[in-house]
Order: sequence, then structure tokens, then C-alpha cells
Amino acid sequence: MLINSELCIGCEKCNPYCPVGAIYTDASEKVSKIDLTECVECGSCLRQANCPVDAIYQQELVWPRTIRSIMSDPLTITEESGIAGRGTEEMKTNDVTGRFRNGYVGVGIEMGRPILGAYMSDVEKVTKAVAAYGVVFEPCNPLTTLMSDQTSGKFQNELLGEKVLSTIIEFTVPINRISGIIKILKDVSKQIDTVFSLGFISKLDSDEMFPLNHILDEFGINYAPNGKTNVGLGRPLFKEKGELV
Ligand code: SF4
Ligand code: SF4
Repeated sequence: MLINSELCIGCEKCNPYCPVGAIYTDASEKVSKIDLTECVECGSCLRQANCPVDAIYQQELVWPRTIRSIMSDPLTITEESGIAGRGTEEMKTNDVTGRFRNGYVGVGIEMGRPILGAYMSDVEKVTKAVAAYGVVFEPCNPLTTLMSDQTSGKFQNELLGEKVLSTIIEFTVPINRISGIIKILKDVSKQIDTVFSLGFISKLDSDEMFPLNHILDEFGINYAPNGKTNVGLGRPLFKEKGELV
């Protein structure tokens, strides 16, 4: 994103709309400017700040900078998932699609947050660490298609210096491998310069309990379970063996 200095009247109205603090006031010129190193191309200033002189404009984004907009602008629809946003719909629709089946857990690692953002070089540290553990990344997640090698979790080199507001790493693993994943993430968390949150998606077990509770308790991880029940508005597309269709 850019600000036309010829038009800007320095009202600073746009400055607080930036989630990563990329808009600053140039004291000598008395206009607002955008630090392009920090800007994640989220579009917030253009859409929300209502600049009185229309000085904010979207410059043409070229690869690899386009990745900033893909991951950070909530209105960008990605080819892979068919929806706006950084991940797939599967985490919210599992009761219909059954992507994560009995005995398996969908894992979503959301890297970066407003203020901090996340550099792709840090995202790669995490994808490489979990890839070495043998996970298969979610093919419909736009982040997965940016990898030059999905078996190693390596990204195309030109992406590593790019910064995004946040992004989601997704994969599915058998429940008995979750402890290993958590250990790996604890180790790699010491090497990255941002934050991440962890989401686990699974069906309830036969006792109607979340099957990961005891594993998370063992690690002393606080969790906030969210339940979703298909009340019949969406026909389940998949049935486990033995379930009635
Ligand atoms: S809102 Fe517009 S005029 Fe005001 S500082 Fe931002 S770019 Fe300049
Ligand atoms: S596009 Fe987003 S990140 Fe860039 S300056 Fe505007 S609000 Fe900040």
C-alpha cells in the first residue's frame, strides 16, 4: 500500500488503522508514509481509514509481495481453498465433511498476530520441523502450495523475506502422534520471532469426550474446547465404518 505525499494533508487519521504499525508520520514533510518492509498489504487503511483526500492507494503487487495480500487481506479469495482467509473450511465443517476421522486429529498452527505479524522464514522453521516428523500438509491450504518441497516443508527462497499478518499451517495426524508434534513445536518455538496458537480438530471419542484432553493435560497446556454439532442442516458426506448413513 502507498500514500500519495502530494495529496496527503497529514491528518494522521489512517495511522491507527494499521495492524502492524507500518504507517508513520514523516515529521519533516508532515505527511503520513507507509514503511513497505513492515506493511503486510492487508488493505485495512484503504478500506477503513476513509482518507479525506483519497491519498491511500494500492500499488500493483508483484510476486513475491503478493503473498502478503493473500495471507493478510481477509477479502482475498485463494484459488486453493476457494474462500477468503488463510486456511481451509475443514476445521469448521468437519461434522459435515468428515475430513478428520476417528483416530485422527486435524492440526492448525496459526502463526502471527496483529502487531507482530510473521516472517515466512519463521513459518518455514515450523513447517520444516513438523515435516521432518512425517506430516502430510493439507493440499487445499494456500500455504501448502507455496512450498517448493512439501516433504521437507521448504518454501520457495524468494518468499522467506516476506512478512504476513498471520498464516495457518494445516495437516492431519493420527492421535498417537500428537505428543510428538507438541514436543517438536515446543522446541521450534524457541527459534521463532513471533507467536503461534495451536488448534486441534477431532471427533469426540466413544465416551463423547475430546480425545486429546489427557494429552494436553500431560503437557500442562490450557485449552478452550469448542463443540460443533451438526443438527441436520448439512448432510454428513462421510460416515465412519459402522455408522448409519
Ligand atoms: S488519512 Fe489520508 S490525508 Fe490523513 S494522514 Fe492518512 S493518507 Fe494522509
Ligand atoms: S495495507 Fe495494512 S499493513 Fe499496509 S499500511 Fe495499510 S493497514 Fe498497514
